Amino acid sequence: MNELAIRGADVPTLDVASIRAEFPILSRQVHGRPLVYLDNAATSQTPRRVIEAFDDYYGRYNANIHRGLHTLADEATAAFEGTRETVRGFLNAAEGREIIFTRGTTEAINLVANAWGRANLGAGDEVLISRLEHHSNIVPWQLLARELGFTIKVIPVDERGVLDLDAYRALLGERTRLVAVNHVSNAFGTVNPVKEMAALAHAHGALILVDGAQATPHQEVDVRDIDADFYAFSGHKVYGPTGVGVLYGKAALLEAMPPWQGGGEMISTVSFEAGTTFAEIPHKFEAGTPAIAEVIALGEALRWTTGVGLAAIGAWEQRLLERATAAVSRIDGLRILGTAPGKAGVLSFVVDGAHAQDIGLLIDQLGVAIRTGHHCAQPLLAQFGVDATCRASFAAYNTLDEIDTFAEALERVIGMVR
Ligand code: PLP
Repeated sequence: MNELAIRGADVPTLDVASIRAEFPILSRQVHGRPLVYLDNAATSQTPRRVIEAFDDYYGRYNANIHRGLHTLADEATAAFEGTRETVRGFLNAAEGREIIFTRGTTEAINLVANAWGRANLGAGDEVLISRLEHHSNIVPWQLLARELGFTIKVIPVDERGVLDLDAYRALLGERTRLVAVNHVSNAFGTVNPVKEMAALAHAHGALILVDGAQATPHQEVDVRDIDADFYAFSGHKVYGPTGVGVLYGKAALLEAMPPWQGGGEMISTVSFEAGTTFAEIPHKFEAGTPAIAEVIALGEALRWTTGVGLAAIGAWEQRLLERATAAVSRIDGLRILGTAPGKAGVLSFVVDGAHAQDIGLLIDQLGVAIRTGHHCAQPLLAQFGVDATCRASFAAYNTLDEIDTFAEALERVIGMVR
């Protein structure tokens, strides 16, 4: 069942005006017009309290964590580890040690590939990914497959951008070691039935890695309910900073995995004579000084997001999506790509006789920020016979008026380039 489709009438509505007031960037002008920011699937904006977390850290308690005995180090460590607990709650993970801080989703997937993959994959094995994947859930597996000789198989999608579950069932077999799929597609907004997919993977003795970069901003995620073995997301798509993300992994799996990067923090003892022993999880996978301020600010972002309420955010984004879909559908020669039922707040489209890049550049002149290009999903776009789309994607702070401004601006620029 598609999680975003499940909405009770009791979902609280958002006070969008007061939400907007918390985001300083939303009051700026672009080319002399009020900014209409509809590039949220690439990076969402950050509320003031997230920005202030940086100021507070660097102004009051900037210190390296874990190894200091002084007050500043203690405070920084407590704030850093406090975020681990916030993330644990955000994902409903069983234990804080199952939360590993990374640079983002990309690094989290590379961690699984290099630590778990190198220890567990070889010739004859199969890894299933889908055609909906972002390049960051394709290329790490291709790089490793080239080295280790395992095979990558691809779950197909239909003309709506929905995964073919019968094909998935048929691809699963005794050689399948891992299924690596996104929870929500960044290019089309498709919400994948990852709980069902996890159960099927497990029935075949395979693990499942879920790329949650586009799910965590729009819906509540429960890694234990999904029964995900690994789950990854990025801070900058959930109202948080860039340069920080999370890998959740089941404790027993993480404990059995070798480290992937060596250095400080991840060791227990180092000796030229006796060799090196490693720290316990999660520190075994956090070599070197992490992005301390970013991790602390991520905690603020997740507390802000859960405070507003993901059910309410998701429901509001659906209203924005409906309004935008209705408005752009009236435009002659415009084709929406990605029409999965219950999809997230992502609207991808192409326009006859107008290249996406031209539309993106011209609409920016009218103050509207959308994304144009291949969205790091070239295999998906290739299936639809295009190399680029325009993509508008929505967040808690977008308004219905902004959708109207976007639709009017779009009609204007299409008129200019055709
Ligand atoms: N996976 C999906 C579905 C994404 O949308 C993105 C970013 O657009 C990523 C992975 C990569 O995230 P990051 O660049 O933050 O590592």
